[in-house]
Amino acid sequence: MKFIFVTGGVVSSLGKGIASSSIGLLLKQRGLKVTLQKFDPYLNVDPGTMSPFQHGEVFVTEDGAETDLDLGHYERFIDTNLAQKNNVTTGQVYQAVIQRERRGGYLGKTVQVVPHITDEIKSRILAAGDDGSNVDVVITEIGGTAGDIESQPFLEAIRQLRLELGRDKTLFIHLTLVPYIRAAKEIKTKPTQHSVKALREIGIQPDILLCRTEVPLNKEIRSKIALFCNVHEEAVIEARDVPSIYHVPLNFHREHLDDIVAKLLDLGDAPPDLSDWEAMVKRMAAVDEEVDIAICGKYVHLNDAYKSIIEAFTHAGIANDVKVNIAWVDAEDITAQTAHRILGDVSGVLVPGGFGDRGIAGKLEAIQYARTNLLPFLGICLGLQCSVIEFARNVCGLEDAHSSEFSPDTANPVIDLMEDQKTKSDKGGTMRLGSYPCVIKSGTLAERCYGSTEIGERHRHRWEFNNRYRDLFAMNGLVISGTSPDNRLVEIVELRDHPFFIAVQFHPELKSRPNRPHPLFKALVKAAKEYKRSSRFAAAKQLKP
Ligand code: GLN
Repeated sequence: MKFIFVTGGVVSSLGKGIASSSIGLLLKQRGLKVTLQKFDPYLNVDPGTMSPFQHGEVFVTEDGAETDLDLGHYERFIDTNLAQKNNVTTGQVYQAVIQRERRGGYLGKTVQVVPHITDEIKSRILAAGDDGSNVDVVITEIGGTAGDIESQPFLEAIRQLRLELGRDKTLFIHLTLVPYIRAAKEIKTKPTQHSVKALREIGIQPDILLCRTEVPLNKEIRSKIALFCNVHEEAVIEARDVPSIYHVPLNFHREHLDDIVAKLLDLGDAPPDLSDWEAMVKRMAAVDEEVDIAICGKYVHLNDAYKSIIEAFTHAGIANDVKVNIAWVDAEDITAQTAHRILGDVSGVLVPGGFGDRGIAGKLEAIQYARTNLLPFLGICLGLQCSVIEFARNVCGLEDAHSSEFSPDTANPVIDLMEDQKTKSDKGGTMRLGSYPCVIKSGTLAERCYGSTEIGERHRHRWEFNNRYRDLFAMNGLVISGTSPDNRLVEIVELRDHPFFIAVQFHPELKSRPNRPHPLFKALVKAAKEYKRSSRFAAAKQLKP
């Protein structure tokens, strides 16, 4: 097994996750078995307890781990399901070490960062590839920026691993920024030099530099970086800005990154088969039609909070040969008065997941608008719960219907806390998490979307549809089209009298892949495309004040 470590320098947000994913894709397409892992330097055990405003989306894996959103990129690029062990935080490392200490596992020793924390980190790196599936390459991304206090134990651990495993089994790739100063018309290499210096101070000499830049790096600049940073010139890779994240692996390949990695780690010289990926990127670039779909949520000012949804729309757009423009709508802005002005121009509405009651009233308005104007609609998790509340109030006449999450004393808790949640006091990792099977009713929109009656989807919630209301809702035209196999949990609802209105308790966005768009997103975008071409769209636009 070979190990690649990806570190970052100069500033954050350079795209270490995408870079790692791209390397993973290139190696996978060279016929290697690849896995990816991320280390996060914070003390939370996982991001599940963090606000989306702090952290962005929480990506949930099949096995129910709440992980960093980079895991979503990994899964989408290497088209492989990952698990809890693929995301390790400082919190988890310390928790394991301290628990072992309490059990007497250190036999009287003083427990220290070196060697005990670093040993724990190393064992997690080795375990990432140790799943009996003959992994050839483990790519470990170290969160944070070189020089941070928080990521030092991780860097120390990978330094030790190189010593223990040898040069031919380990590779250090450093992602850095080479800024272009517009006023001086100059490309600056100094930040990169400093960042590599910070790594060298702790004993890490990068083998490859990925240089983020907005302009091409000429030979002169490359040799300067090579000389000052002590890397081979061919290993100074230009990582220029590209139109989409899906162009990154193709760019890296053109820069011979995978050849260099393969040479340094002795991974063979078979070229990667990028034909499917290239075709996907080409198809994406060739679209000449657009649809606008509104996402009405609470965290719309931070796109990272809805990362997988954005990507799922990209994939669904490619499959439908349209570009999906997302209209970000702050749910708090939607009222009965503003709904038409805000939503009159879009061809579809999505209400995503969320927590807390801020923005709920606006989400209900958006749903009512989509329902009554026959606008294609997809509700996800809290989006399903709001759809049920809206239907209860405005169609079934239960004016005080609510979720007990927001109104604990309502006489009509159409959304209620799941039975097994009532006794849970810890907040971290205690929701209904991960993949569960769902059975779809034949003859429904859900069945038409999935083309199947048995599916598995990933969950992250505590509340659920209250079964007491099933009959009343059914009588009024709400179809329960998917349930848990024992029929106790409602997983999908749709409207009998609407061309495309579907809401799901799970998170479909987590399973969408570039070349395998999620069936619900694909169907929503198709419905939106048809809606836009229909006279209903023209009529709705005309109505606009
Ligand atoms: N807050 C709701 C629940 O816990 C919805 C969660 C979500 O949308 N992910 O059930």
